[in-house]
Amino acid sequence: MALDSFGRNIHYLRISLTDKCNLRCVYCMPEEMFFRPSAELMTPDECLRLVQLFAELGVDKIRLTGGEPTIHPDLIRIVRGIRDIGIHKISMTTNGLRLAQLAKPLKAAGLERVNVSVDTLDPDKFHRITRWGSLAQVIEGIYAAEAVGLMPLKINAVIARGFNEDDVADLAALTLTHRWQVRYIELMPFGEVAAFAQNAVVSQEEIMQRIEAERGPLEPVDNGRLDGEARLYRLKGSLAAIGFISTVTNPFCATCSRVRLTADGKLRLCLLRDDEGDLLTPLRNGASDAQLKKRIEDLIWRKPWGHGLPEGVIPLERVMSQIGG
Ligand code: SAM
Repeated sequence: MALDSFGRNIHYLRISLTDKCNLRCVYCMPEEMFFRPSAELMTPDECLRLVQLFAELGVDKIRLTGGEPTIHPDLIRIVRGIRDIGIHKISMTTNGLRLAQLAKPLKAAGLERVNVSVDTLDPDKFHRITRWGSLAQVIEGIYAAEAVGLMPLKINAVIARGFNEDDVADLAALTLTHRWQVRYIELMPFGEVAAFAQNAVVSQEEIMQRIEAERGPLEPVDNGRLDGEARLYRLKGSLAAIGFISTVTNPFCATCSRVRLTADGKLRLCLLRDDEGDLLTPLRNGASDAQLKKRIEDLIWRKPWGHGLPEGVIPLERVMSQIGG
């Protein structure tokens, strides 16, 4: 078991497989983006060696993300490798564009479930937010994922003022007709898009008011207890819950159990703090498994209690696509 200095058991690893993406969501990355050369990124074997060590330290849950994980050429092999290490809770966050082709082989390789990012059900707004994405292609991917049992499937919606705050009730209504949990993620500031994000945050409170005004009351699930990072509610008669991940206005740091491995092999201790430790360089320099495990344990021990947004501490070194959401 890997513990941090506050006694939290860190057993959930998010791995960003690539910093590249086939979309450019306005709140996530600038249109002109510098991508790291492949030589600086973990190879599948390096990634799986680190996963093996994390598993030995008690990690039992992995989410693959990016950038866009489905554009990684070795995605299926990596999923299979993680499952063969003995980790069965494997999920992925994706924009869904390639899910129609990949859902079946991903399920066969051991992927358990997916979160798909959909910020609006209006094709024109979707195009504006993602800069060129096709909503129809994403919806096709969602149906493909559901059909092969990548469930429970969750829809991630980031709400940005001026782009999609009018769409929150339509997204919530998806839970009346589908078993897809819809989760609203508060916009967080990072790097070059920090100023944009800070000016465009829409709070959980406002999102709830907008949903209730159009769709009726939201009832808390389990007395509003946290489910992972989300607080869950339901609309009357719905087939799935509605979640709020309100990192800015209602953070969940006390129950945080995760760390992130970036595509260039850095262990990021808190999503919203720049503090990271390099694992890839020692691995490439020949560190033994025992030395790497000690380094991981030491890094996890120094995981900070929480983010510093209330004190004005904003992570400036990387944007979300380079960290892995
Ligand atoms: N490309 C994949 C996708 O679109 O889901 C995975 C990577 S993306 C960085 C992971 C999640 O982070 C997405 O749901 C995305 O909407 C969210 N995200 C990106 N930038 C964000 C920001 N500034 N604040 C909050 N969420 C953000």
